Amino acid sequence: MRINGKAAAPGAGTSGDAYLPEHGNGGYRVRHYDLDLDYRIGPNRLSATAVLTCVATQALSRLTLDFGEFRVSRVLVDGKPAKYLRRGLKLQVKPVRSVPSGAEFRVEIRYAGNPKPVPSRWGDIGWDELTDGALVASQPVGAPSWFPCNDHPGDKASYRVNVATSSPYLVAVTGNLVSRYQSASTTRWVFERPEPTATYLMSVQIGRYEDLALTGSAWVPETGAEPRGVVQRAAVPPRLRRPFARDFARQGQMMDALEGWFGPYPFGEYVVVVTDDDLDDPIEAQGMAIFGANHVDGRRTHERLVVHELAHQWFGNSLTVADWRHIWLNEGFATYTEWLWSEVSGGESTEALARAWYLRMRAKPADVTIGDPGVGRMFDERVYKRGALTLHALRGEIGDPAFFALVKAWAEENRHGTVTTAQFVTAAESYAGRPLDTFFTAWLDRPALPPL
Ligand SMILES: [Zn+2]
Repeated sequence: MRINGKAAAPGAGTSGDAYLPEHGNGGYRVRHYDLDLDYRIGPNRLSATAVLTCVATQALSRLTLDFGEFRVSRVLVDGKPAKYLRRGLKLQVKPVRSVPSGAEFRVEIRYAGNPKPVPSRWGDIGWDELTDGALVASQPVGAPSWFPCNDHPGDKASYRVNVATSSPYLVAVTGNLVSRYQSASTTRWVFERPEPTATYLMSVQIGRYEDLALTGSAWVPETGAEPRGVVQRAAVPPRLRRPFARDFARQGQMMDALEGWFGPYPFGEYVVVVTDDDLDDPIEAQGMAIFGANHVDGRRTHERLVVHELAHQWFGNSLTVADWRHIWLNEGFATYTEWLWSEVSGGESTEALARAWYLRMRAKPADVTIGDPGVGRMFDERVYKRGALTLHALRGEIGDPAFFALVKAWAEENRHGTVTTAQFVTAAESYAGRPLDTFFTAWLDRPALPPL
């Protein structure tokens, strides 16, 4: 059954996001995703059922989901077959009966196909085949490459993800592993992600990985002692085990340092995945970070990236931007955490790093306003470094006690929520005890670099 022709209700097929209006949809929010995936690695073949529990924010005669190029074999709304129509990266669904405003409803979609990443201005993003396995790295638009969703960072939901694949492979999903069943050749892995999570932060990692357990700063064998505190694990190609052990040996200390600055780690587990292939950049997912083989050399060359990705668990993942224009709240904090870590781990001082980066930023064209950089410059280096410099300048402006009280309260009070720059400015002013509009206007809303 298919819808004939007509466009969706106004607003139903757009999130209204100024940067990525084609991702995300109006009219409803998703509370929970239940994803059952069967994946065959050799042929890169996915057969799946997704059940979305949603709430209508207006009366809905139809709704739109973000979804990749899969063959859809069935769509049910509240158990009844619904009409549907594919249009580019959108799936329009027309229930038999309109959903009243405020009502909870379930959409079930059965689909199959060869998952492939979503083409974007930043390259191909999402579900990607590896030489021997698969990975998902979705920031910012890759989630529809593997499940139907409301692909907007402001619509966070809980998840249950069930993946069945060939038994010799290790599967890591952004969530707590709750069960694992092995039959002759297939293993079914079940993960639960109870915390509200943005679609772009959900990930599946499949490879011939060794499963390493890390508690505190010491490695223990798989059969070792009970983990205490946050469960920290890693999925690593066996050939990289030794250099990995050295490069990530201080992750437990980083965890302690970051909990000291930002309050309790937001999730039950932290899983590091190192793919056997090279990756351009490491990437954060919920309770997970993904590195390429090229980021591991046994000499801690990329330790700043280890702490950067860990910092995103607070800034980006627990506190998620309400829309993409606030991206400096993710990248500025993650970059500033690199500088804080450098100082406490015996490297260059935060002040020296800030001075050095200030000079480098000053030598670049002053044509980015980091409070609203524009979609083309969301991931510009200046958003990262000047974002960190903004925090360092704020620290100088309000003093260490107020600054560190602010960042801890910011992380704790907005835990598992969504955030905007305006909220951060309000929080900073309450810790400063005075207006900071001149300060923030200069740092966030003007392209010229203010004095440090
Ligand atoms: Zn980052």
